[in-house]
Amino acid sequence: MQAITLFWFRRDLRLQDNAGLYHALKSKFPVQPVFIFDTDILDHLGDPEDARVSFLHQRITELQLELNALGSSILVRYGKSAEVWAEILQDFVVAEVYTNHDYEPRAIQRDEQVKSLLAEQNIPFFSFKDQVIFEKLEVTKPDGKPYTVFTPYSRTWKNKLASQMESFSEDGAKKSLSVFLKPYPCAEYFSNFWPTESMPLPALSAMGFKASNIGIPPTTISQGLIKTYDKTRDFPYLQGTSRLGIHFRFGTISIREKARRALELNETFLNELIWRDFYAQILFNFPHVATRSFRPEYDRIEWRNNEQEFEKWCTGKTGYPIVDAGMRELNATGFMHNRVRMITASFLTKHLLIDWRWGEAYFAKKLLDFDLASNNGGWQWAAGCGTDAAPYFRVFSPAAQQEKFDPEYKYVRKWVPEYGTPAYPKPMVDHKFARERCLEVYKIALKGI
Ligand code: FAD
Repeated sequence: MQAITLFWFRRDLRLQDNAGLYHALKSKFPVQPVFIFDTDILDHLGDPEDARVSFLHQRITELQLELNALGSSILVRYGKSAEVWAEILQDFVVAEVYTNHDYEPRAIQRDEQVKSLLAEQNIPFFSFKDQVIFEKLEVTKPDGKPYTVFTPYSRTWKNKLASQMESFSEDGAKKSLSVFLKPYPCAEYFSNFWPTESMPLPALSAMGFKASNIGIPPTTISQGLIKTYDKTRDFPYLQGTSRLGIHFRFGTISIREKARRALELNETFLNELIWRDFYAQILFNFPHVATRSFRPEYDRIEWRNNEQEFEKWCTGKTGYPIVDAGMRELNATGFMHNRVRMITASFLTKHLLIDWRWGEAYFAKKLLDFDLASNNGGWQWAAGCGTDAAPYFRVFSPAAQQEKFDPEYKYVRKWVPEYGTPAYPKPMVDHKFARERCLEVYKIALKGI
């Protein structure tokens, strides 16, 4: 049997500008792409119509067609990663395995397990940076320690980007750009895919899922949107943000390509991409944040954790229209505008004194763009317990946020049609009372600090 290189797709579902795939295609052996529908992840989702699984399935089907057109195929398996790998090693003569880094604690554990399984048969496992511009300890303080505050991190990030310039050709035009943004020219090596018949994919239903009705935003956005992003991004009633989150999450677009465009068109948009890198390195360098507060003293807060109140928040029935509009948008579309994510998260943690991990878990279930690092970073920021967090005594007033960011109630009317009628509930808690209660509870937890 022919020895082959396997390329393991995970959060990088594209054939173009894919770091690990590029290196695999340049290897000595023909390349067989692999994708695993991992039951360690799927079994915990809970919703058979989870839109992210439908999206994944659709994207893998597209990749299959793209590979078929190149005379190759993707090998798709369903099961626990380590067990699937043991099977694959029996079915093929595997010379090498290539993939791209994943920075989540559980993914790191999974990769270590697969790596040792491969090592038992002397098969090397090569992994590359692909889903971020800078990772791990690439952007650090002068003493080599990771940054925990965004502004100096982003300054060093930009200096590092500017530090290594090179000319390369993009669509025929020579450009001078940082090497860190250079695309990987995978297409030049497509002839190195393993020529094979198309292999069958498992049906969604065979994995216990159904197609979702939730629509997925496109992978493309207009230049105009990026150009005006700094002026439109804060207003939830406008289509003023990219909605590319899910595509960054699953690598259906290249971060390098979007960062190049951001650099040309709008620095504020670039800053948001830097926030993404920032939280990815926080999760990698401080993995305890996945389950605990970045600042340990905040784990002493006595959360009220009232289940009925949590239910009102989840269903958008708090009586605060901007909070309710956000939660209903999330439930209906899998998207919530960033400004409203901040308002709803602040309301849950500070007005209702419900543990940020409850809100984090609810967002994780619902958000199309759910990403552990950014979701966790956003929640810890809102609760005041994270890196570079809002100080705990700054409690957003939902009414003031409403006035500032949706003054004509356009966003609210879209998602809360009964607002202003007797059918709309009264505020579930008085703002002034909730604010004082929050300050008291936080103060007790943080006493002596
Ligand atoms: P745009 O405004 O168009 O920004 C472009 C891209 O930049 C985004 O797609 C995203 O990849 C990145 N980005 C923008 N803002 C941030 C940010 N503050 N932190 C990190 N990356 C950012 N983002 C996620 O990708 N996944 C999450 O699970 C997630 N959960 C969040 C939870 C809370 C409580 C908060 C306050 C924020 C969360 N964010 C999360 C960050 C941000 O709200 C979303 O990235 C953004 O709203 C996605 O919409 P967009 O694609 O239109 O973003």
